[in-house]
Amino acid sequence: MDPQDRHICSHAFEQRQDHHGAVAPPVYQTSIFTFPDLESFSRAQLAERERFIYSRGLNPTVKLLEDKLAALERGQACKAFASGMGAISATLFSLLKHGDHVLRINQTYGPSVELLDHMARYGVSHDGIAGDQQLTDHLRPETRLIYIESPSSLRMELADLEAISAIARKRGILTLIDNTWATPLFQKPLTHGIDMVVHSLSKYIGGHSDVVGGAVIADAKLIDRLFANGHQLLGAALSPHSASLILRGLRTLPVRMAEHQRNALAVARFLADHPQVAAVHHPSLAKGAAADWAARQLHGHSGLLSLALHHPSYSRIANFIDALELMRIGVSWGGYESLALSPMRPDGSGQPLIRLAIGLEHIDDIIDDLERGFAALER
Ligand SMILES: *Cc1c(COP(=O)(O)O)cnc(C)c1O
Repeated sequence: MDPQDRHICSHAFEQRQDHHGAVAPPVYQTSIFTFPDLESFSRAQLAERERFIYSRGLNPTVKLLEDKLAALERGQACKAFASGMGAISATLFSLLKHGDHVLRINQTYGPSVELLDHMARYGVSHDGIAGDQQLTDHLRPETRLIYIESPSSLRMELADLEAISAIARKRGILTLIDNTWATPLFQKPLTHGIDMVVHSLSKYIGGHSDVVGGAVIADAKLIDRLFANGHQLLGAALSPHSASLILRGLRTLPVRMAEHQRNALAVARFLADHPQVAAVHHPSLAKGAAADWAARQLHGHSGLLSLALHHPSYSRIANFIDALELMRIGVSWGGYESLALSPMRPDGSGQPLIRLAIGLEHIDDIIDDLERGFAALER
């Protein structure tokens, strides 16, 4: 972990002298900002990207979070949104137009695929490939955006960010990555040539399963475009109160991620050695080209992983998950608590995987819980 990141999470951009030295940044719970005379109001309106006028646009508490996230990703600018999907939809709607094609790499977040399906009515098409497929075979003259998730969040697939961005740059195609799995502490895609990074702040960055938010980080020109169209017009603005909760989450992100990593590496090894397990999906266990990409791109491993049982069926998966006592069943991840779910449905559709979000409990308690799941398979 880069020492600079710990400073960004704790002190950078805080300007405490402007707030009576307050250590916790004040929550600017206000919708509007007023002006002493019409000329200063008019001048502010000409610079709405920099000036505090209305909190759907810019708010000081939200801006502090944006400044920190931009710095953590080594980007020029950031825009925060009311959710990860708010960030993704704003990005897609502000960059794409009728006739454009999007190429997805790896299994991107489910609702983002549903959104791209929905965008067919606006003349935007999309399809997807795996990270190890030949990219140039799937690019079209009308491909405008390459949308990557690496590591992805169900099977933790990887992609070669430098190779993809080099090809995309040559052809004038924009690249977008969902970096939620790794957080900016464990992967900095802009430093590998990717144009835009999107985050769900509802996961590790918020970190306590009590807030929903999203963000996009890119160069100032792209963020300006996103601000004018995707943010101001679509309107998914992050509330100042949510921003303050996420800022509080950022304070401890470095220590939490170190601990998520420690627990997840132990669980991945335990599962990989278990006779009931057919496969474990976690980048720490990547092989071949994916292992090289992980070594080059990842500075650490987060706590989200999945496993496949031998002879998987809905009832076996349900027996495993229902036997867990510590791990609760629920969507999302990134909080202190361990969670389990399966995308498989009772009718047998969906992938027969068990996804685990490894939390911050004691590793012995987590392993004991998994043993309960395996014991239930024997019954
Ligand atoms: C949760 C998630 C999102 C969407 O974020 P929300 O804040 O729930 O809207 C996007 N990408 C990934 C990888 C996610 O896990």
